[in-house]
Amino acid sequence: MKILTVDDSSTMRRIIKNTLNRLGYNDVVEAEHGVDALAKMAGVDFVLTDWNMPEMDGLTFVKTLRSNPKFAEVPIIMVTTEAAKKEILEAIKAGVTDYIVKPFTPETLKEKIQKVMGG
Ligand SMILES: [Mg+2]
Repeated sequence: MKILTVDDSSTMRRIIKNTLNRLGYNDVVEAEHGVDALAKMAGVDFVLTDWNMPEMDGLTFVKTLRSNPKFAEVPIIMVTTEAAKKEILEAIKAGVTDYIVKPFTPETLKEKIQKVMGG
């Protein structure tokens, strides 16, 4: 399973990538914002994206993916500090599959991925 992790923080990308590797997901691609991510979507099975990023933020990235039939069904987890109910609802409305609030534990990431993948 190819996973794309999108975050403008290289530290956060490293944390997520290391966590995924430890969980057994070794095919991980990184992007630093929405524009970069859109260029790297080929063959991606699963997306983890930050919200606040330069160039193209996570919400716009999610909306752009969902407006493309090719990516309408790709599972997307938003990983962000935007934890207010209003923001969560906005992200769900934009088409995210699930939501993780930073800081998160490896266990949370694992549970969310398994939940989204249906097992
Ligand atoms: Mg950010």
